[in-house]
Amino acid sequence: LALEPSDVNQVVQDAIALVEYQLRKGKVTLADEFAEDLPRIELDATRIEQVLVNLMINAMQAMETGGQLTVRTYATFLTDAKRDEGVRTATHLRAGDRVIRIEIDDQGPGIDPENLKKLFDPFFTTKPTGVGTGLGLSVSRKIVELHHGTLELINRDEGGVRARITLKCPEAG
Ligand code: ADP
Ligand code: MG
Repeated sequence: LALEPSDVNQVVQDAIALVEYQLRKGKVTLADEFAEDLPRIELDATRIEQVLVNLMINAMQAMETGGQLTVRTYATFLTDAKRDEGVRTATHLRAGDRVIRIEIDDQGPGIDPENLKKLFDPFFTTKPTGVGTGLGLSVSRKIVELHHGTLELINRDEGGVRARITLKCPEAG
């Protein structure tokens, strides 16, 4: 990894720029909710952009007739909140850690609970041959793990999927 202190909002913005044309073609509108006060964190911007592109393309492909994609960033402290209905990669993050989150919410049909535990398997796809390789989430998982972060896919109560990247902020001081 080529770690450099980075502005998460800028990284997200750069990833959006890469998929903007495809989103427009897919009749997907984009809403962004960027926190203003995020601390810079060490990350490999190219790799994290790759993860974000994978997640946004998945969201777009889930909304076959279009819809809205909401991309959000914020800083928070981890709590032992109730587990959402979804899957997450292994993590070293602990309650009390200060983290930055990037969330991508779609308005697609959500993920069949049967498939949740297979999502991160290489070559797992529910898409027709030629559309999906099934590698997006397994590669994304690897990249987020190399950053000691967490990648989650959550079926939202309101419907649709929330893809969430959680990255640790450096200790204050
Ligand atoms: P691919 O996109 O090539 O199928 P991925 O690893 O990116 O491979 O995703 C694996 C599977 O996870 C998809 O085929 C799909 O079934 C499911 N999935 C991922 N993201 C979403 C989403 N936002 N909404 C619904 N299903 C999703
Ligand atoms: Mg994919």
